Amino acid sequence: MIYRLFILVFFVVFNFAFSEVYTPETLKEKEEFNKLQKEKITIALVDDPFYNLSYPKTSSLNTTVEKFLKNYMQLDITFKKVTYKDLQSEINSGVIDGIAFTPKSKSFDNKLDFSESIFSEELYVISKTEPIYSLNDLNNKIIYTSYIDVYTNILKAILDNNDLHACPIPVENLKKYDDKYILTTNPVLYKPKYGIKIGHSSGITIALSHKYKDLLPFINNALSGGYRKIFLNELDSLNRSISYNNFYTSLTSEEKEYLKTHKPIKVAYEKDSDSLVSYKSKIDGEYKGIAPNIFKILKRNLGIDFIDITNTDYKTINDLKNNDFDTTVLSKTQKRSKDFIFSKKIYEIGTYIINLDNSPASSRTIGVLKDNVEEHLAQRYDVDNNIIVFNDFNSMVNALNDGEVGNLLVTNKEDFDSNKYNIVPFETIPVNFMFNKNNTVLRDIINKAFEYSIDLKGFAELSQLERDAENKAIYLKNKETRDILVLSSVLFIFIILAISVNLYKERLNKKNLLKDSLTNLPNRFIFDKFCNEENSLTGSTFVIDLNNFKNINDSLGHEFGDVILKEFANFLKNSFIDSHIFRISGDEFYGFSFESHEEIIGKLKKYKDFCPTLLKYNITFNLGVSHKTANISLATSFKYSDLAMLETKKEKSKFYKIADDKFIEKMDRESSILSLLKEDISGIYPMFQPKYCIKTNRIIGAEALARYSSLELGPIGPFEFIPIAEKYNFIHKVDYKIAKESIVFIRDLLENEVSLDNFRISFNISMKTFKRDDLITVLTGLLNYFKVPGKYIEVEITESIFILDMKDLITKLKALKNLGIQISLDDFTAGHSTAGLLPLLPMDVVKFDKSLLDSLEVNKSKGKIVYKNLTSLIKDLNFKIVSEGVETKEQLEFLKFLGVDYAQGYYFSKPISKDEFTTEVKTL
Ligand code: C2E
Ligand code: CA
Ligand code: CA
Repeated sequence: MIYRLFILVFFVVFNFAFSEVYTPETLKEKEEFNKLQKEKITIALVDDPFYNLSYPKTSSLNTTVEKFLKNYMQLDITFKKVTYKDLQSEINSGVIDGIAFTPKSKSFDNKLDFSESIFSEELYVISKTEPIYSLNDLNNKIIYTSYIDVYTNILKAILDNNDLHACPIPVENLKKYDDKYILTTNPVLYKPKYGIKIGHSSGITIALSHKYKDLLPFINNALSGGYRKIFLNELDSLNRSISYNNFYTSLTSEEKEYLKTHKPIKVAYEKDSDSLVSYKSKIDGEYKGIAPNIFKILKRNLGIDFIDITNTDYKTINDLKNNDFDTTVLSKTQKRSKDFIFSKKIYEIGTYIINLDNSPASSRTIGVLKDNVEEHLAQRYDVDNNIIVFNDFNSMVNALNDGEVGNLLVTNKEDFDSNKYNIVPFETIPVNFMFNKNNTVLRDIINKAFEYSIDLKGFAELSQLERDAENKAIYLKNKETRDILVLSSVLFIFIILAISVNLYKERLNKKNLLKDSLTNLPNRFIFDKFCNEENSLTGSTFVIDLNNFKNINDSLGHEFGDVILKEFANFLKNSFIDSHIFRISGDEFYGFSFESHEEIIGKLKKYKDFCPTLLKYNITFNLGVSHKTANISLATSFKYSDLAMLETKKEKSKFYKIADDKFIEKMDRESSILSLLKEDISGIYPMFQPKYCIKTNRIIGAEALARYSSLELGPIGPFEFIPIAEKYNFIHKVDYKIAKESIVFIRDLLENEVSLDNFRISFNISMKTFKRDDLITVLTGLLNYFKVPGKYIEVEITESIFILDMKDLITKLKALKNLGIQISLDDFTAGHSTAGLLPLLPMDVVKFDKSLLDSLEVNKSKGKIVYKNLTSLIKDLNFKIVSEGVETKEQLEFLKFLGVDYAQGYYFSKPISKDEFTTEVKTL
């Protein structure tokens, strides 16, 4: 370590010492350069918070470039600070002859030439309050940007490629908008809570007007001669200072005290582990990989001292309980959660089942490495001690090759040649730092360090690079290069996205930005300003959304739609005189008012019930209202109003909803659920609801339904967490998990020799999961691995999948059928236009939705006719029918009368646990 530090210090010193001033090589060049040195040049330093920022031990980048051009290049330059907004006009008018830091920009193309890139930059969209988990979250959003069109163009191109759209608005001071979406290359400046990386700039350069373009070759020469490294070092140390500052100010006094007194933090890695997370280097015996790299960067960025005791003092993980050491890195499992606490996940490892093609089908044994997470994982799925534990990797592989063990469960699939072995993806497992239960202080410090200092995503790639390097034994030869790699890792080692930048020439029209031309109400731009500037106001916020407005435009024409919008806007203006009303989008109006909720609702209700235009054309709207107290920002209050408005659309009983404490609690709960499940879905498990044959009254199978409960929040229903998993794109993890547990269940029943004639467990596959390319591979792999024939399995899909590409849909359905899996169409109701597709699709079962039965209560005779006709239609198509939500004997009798095949519902049984269900089927 010390040795490495020496190299670094030497390197930095060397860079500064390599020469005081720049001198060209040849005489001719010297002459030319001398001439240029006499020119009086004015260069703009961009007035950007990042380039201006300095710390006691770190000078700003603007200062560094001044030193470069003035002291090192010895040019006669005057510097002038210019805002991004004024750059263009200052260049056009010839006040400045160049810019010190700018990306290559097309809009300067005919005025300026650019040097080679000094450093590259990554582009992020971030926010303090608006959740951003994927690009989709940016769709149709306003994104505040600086006046650098290059970045805006990259944003546009990325969104375009994903069929998304956003509205960028350039502003002078981005900091003012950090609770909205902002586009920036320096997220650390804003301490965002949410953010995603969207791309990569082509590089920051020095730009000069054509008149001085002969200087550029000299500048390039000086940069590659060594000065670029000085820039990079300065940039790196600046970033570290910012991170450190952000991190340190986030600490509580107790945490600060801990860092001061408790030094160093003792880390022990899993002994002899060989995963990317931590592995023992074959070259120097040190632990390398993601976790050690994280600690290295924590030490470098934040000065958190740590010491690796794996090879000296480490005995067992239980010593963590005695505080013999402070942390180790392990997967969070439910078993371990009883005794330990965990940091946020630092990585996610895939596990794989490995077997030989020709292995006899009876060989159900599974080999795992001792004390590895694979062992824990295997135990979860093991019923009768099929696990064989190996002490080392080689003997484990030999045992597989010799047929002594049928399968291996491993994390490192690269060790297996896919020509020789079957490699089936199994479950992914989160990896975390683990601490003593009492050590929440350290856990919180580490979590804050992740939040404020480092981007955990970079480490896997970095560590893979290192490991490859080590494996190829170029490690030793290139030790220096490698050190630089580590030094600038977090900032500079990332996959370079290939970005094709489409030119986005439209200039935003200032005037249109202020008032909505149709209704004359202030628009979103003013609204955002209002939210920023009037945060101290208290009163009510409300959000109104007109329903089906698109239909009105489509059926009656835009002119007509415009009249209605104008009329509506006038009503708002006249009845909310002392309020602030905004038109946010086509049919969405926001308001802030000093009036009470009752007054606001009353006025709108009256208008809704008596306005002739609305009545005549059957136009309705929804309203969400919320208190704006001193404790919350306007933006938050509007957010709650908006959520309340959306809720009324779902509930449909009232046209308005007040975001009261209960509602706000519910919304906050949703975001807590998200943050729990985003980390780790291992707490999700299935319950099984039996299905009965109506004729024989026997169980013919069950539907597996996902359940979740967490220590923090208690039990959480699927109606809560499934929509969240769908919205944030991890529903496939839930579906695959339940699929696996269902298959395991069948295996267990088979092993217990329960007779399973015509018996099936079904599970739900959401549309988003169905769309995935790995659907068939995963299900095939699971069936093969657990040696369960597909005929015991049924997949429930909903009509929403019909919007998928027909060819893909049918290919997948056929592939499922080839596995012997049955397919059932869930939540089938009358009135669905897609019913026409039914005859075309290879399906087996149609599940009638509970609402169809419920409608019998409302209008008996009509409901019965509908049910009867649907039944005969589906029967004619040769599908089996499952009737869902059967609650009474009367309903059952009716179904029996119609000849419906199967029933599922509380009349028979609620969803029950695996054990309870096993008892049920055994007694059959
Ligand atoms: P679903 O697929 O329509 O599941 C049937 C729901 O009806 C279950 O609710 C079940 O408990 C409930 N149910 C069954 N019989 C009766 C009855 O007689 N009366 C009443 N009132 N309800 C009955 P649950 O378990 O709350 O699940 C709700 C929904 O969550 C499911 O509706 C399904 O859409 C979704 N879901 C559950 N597990 C999964 C899963 O693993 N993956 C996916 N993608 N979705 C799932
Ligand atoms: Ca279902
Ligand atoms: Ca259903």
